[in-house]
Amino acid sequence: MKMRQFSVIGLGRFGSSLAMTLMNEGCEVLGIDKNEEIINNMADRLTHVVVADTTEEEVLRSLGIRNMDCVIVAIGDDIQASIMTALLLKDLGVRMIVAKALSMLHGKVLERIGVDRVIFPERDMGVRVAHQLINPNLLDYIELSNDYRIAELTVPRELSGLTLKELDSRQKYGFSVVAINKKNRVIVAPTAEDLIEEKDLMVIIGNQVQIENFEQCVE
Ligand code: ADP
Repeated sequence: MKMRQFSVIGLGRFGSSLAMTLMNEGCEVLGIDKNEEIINNMADRLTHVVVADTTEEEVLRSLGIRNMDCVIVAIGDDIQASIMTALLLKDLGVRMIVAKALSMLHGKVLERIGVDRVIFPERDMGVRVAHQLINPNLLDYIELSNDYRIAELTVPRELSGLTLKELDSRQKYGFSVVAINKKNRVIVAPTAEDLIEEKDLMVIIGNQVQIENFEQCVE
């Protein structure tokens, strides 16, 4: 079942942008921060807001946080507060906890506590931007394993007008094209006769080396 009710603890840059995106997607969001000014700023943008220090068990209990589908701990610099909050949420039996980590050690502690998903926003964004800088056609990617990924690439001009058969990506580079995103439609599971054109987006599945080889060949 799709998650609908979220609570975001810590409405700094990361937490507020996450909370607003969830709101735009039609979810209900309870925003919590100990800073009253921040809460006043967010009051009419989120479903509910509360000024509270989440390191106090009674506070968390009284907010009914246990009933949320997912709680995100987006507390920034205060590692102690982040860890204590995560521990209390776990003890209260929150179904899914996501927490932002500032360092590898902080991340390890959060994992030990039993946080379901630990994210490292700065580290992950650094990796992502580096990949995009090295591969200018690479718009986005999802890692399936250490090796394999699904990537979204713009079609370089010199390949415009080729069919997938002519592109021959499996023989030449080793990756498969799983979708072509054209201006007005998406071709899922394209056939050998489907065309790729400049400005189309190709969604491909392959390993890092195959994708990098392709990028070098088309430069
Ligand atoms: P970012 O890097 O995402 O901007 P910040 O450190 O600026 O992160 O923001 C984290 C937010 O978490 C701040 O608004 C801060 O008031 C809030 N916060 C910190 N500790 C607690 C706590 N114990 N309870 C509730 N909110 C907290």
